[in-house]
Amino acid sequence: MASQFGAFTASELYCPKCARAQRVRERLLLILPDGELHEYLCSGCGNSLGQRKTARPGSAFSIPPRPPPGRPTPRGPVPRRPRGLLS
Ligand SMILES: [Zn+2]
Repeated sequence: MASQFGAFTASELYCPKCARAQRVRERLLLILPDGELHEYLCSGCGNSLGQRKTARPGSAFSIPPRPPPGRPTPRGPVPRRPRGLLS
């Protein structure tokens, strides 16, 4: 697994109060019907530096539903009707 595409999380953000990039703490802010809202807090002064919404696993990117294991599709050799040759 070389790439972590789509799994980016901020670890440092610029804080205007501290006037420098600070490490941030992530805090769960809100739970939405389709995801969660996280807030980034400056680890230095506690200032809110940003928010991030994450999709709840199982909603937006859920595993596509499998077809129910019903009857197998008839795909065998179709019996050919002998027709017309010897009659
Ligand atoms: Zn700060």
